[in-house]
Amino acid sequence: MIRIDILTVLPELLESPLNYSIVQRAKNKGLASIVIHNIRDYGKGKYHQTDDYPFGGEAGMVIMIEPVYKIITQLKKEREYDHIIYMSPDGDILDQGISNSLSLTNNLIILCGHYKGIDHRIREHLITKEISVGDYVLSGGEIPAAILCDSIIRLIPGAISDETSALSDSFQDNLLAPPVYTRPANFNGWEVPNVLLSGNPKLIREWQETQSLERTKKLRPNLLK
Ligand code: SAH
Repeated sequence: MIRIDILTVLPELLESPLNYSIVQRAKNKGLASIVIHNIRDYGKGKYHQTDDYPFGGEAGMVIMIEPVYKIITQLKKEREYDHIIYMSPDGDILDQGISNSLSLTNNLIILCGHYKGIDHRIREHLITKEISVGDYVLSGGEIPAAILCDSIIRLIPGAISDETSALSDSFQDNLLAPPVYTRPANFNGWEVPNVLLSGNPKLIREWQETQSLERTKKLRPNLLK
């Protein structure tokens, strides 16, 4: 059972990606719980202020430290967290290895930035891990947080009905997955590889392994190093 607390100024952005498919099924089965906290609820003053102008006069708004500090302190009183993660374009680039290791943890906090980012003191004093979804900039950390949650939760045993299925996906064993096909075997004259129709598990397995290796060599040679 993994519990993930997500801190955001825009909870609406997280609703649909985390409420369907494998993630929703894992929640229904009690394998995962995701609690979304609106940073605004901890905002300052009458208007629940959560962001302010940056010192030094650059353009854009910065998420303030106080509301984030309040939520994190409160959560840490309630349970012990394995990691307090900030989604950030300059963090470690997410890969299957990171998702595998996070899927073995029990409690995670994920902080989503927005606007120009967050007060750097949050990163210096409260965050224990920073993760990026790639070398490009998005408007907020919510979509990256949803990507991270999805990639973690689908790895929890029982989340996917056929347990071996997540293990046969790309990047496990540093290999890409082989191609998959379904009926009809012949569409417009475009045929499925014959071996897959052979009914011979050994030959099929060999073909899949060769395909995995060939595709990895061609498309992601860096995985083989
Ligand atoms: N000014 C920052 C970018 C802020 S983007 C910079 O130049 O580095 C606003 C928020 O979106 C960030 O705080 C972060 O939480 C999120 N974000 C943007 N791109 C991301 C990426 N590639 N991976 C993870 N989070 C990202």
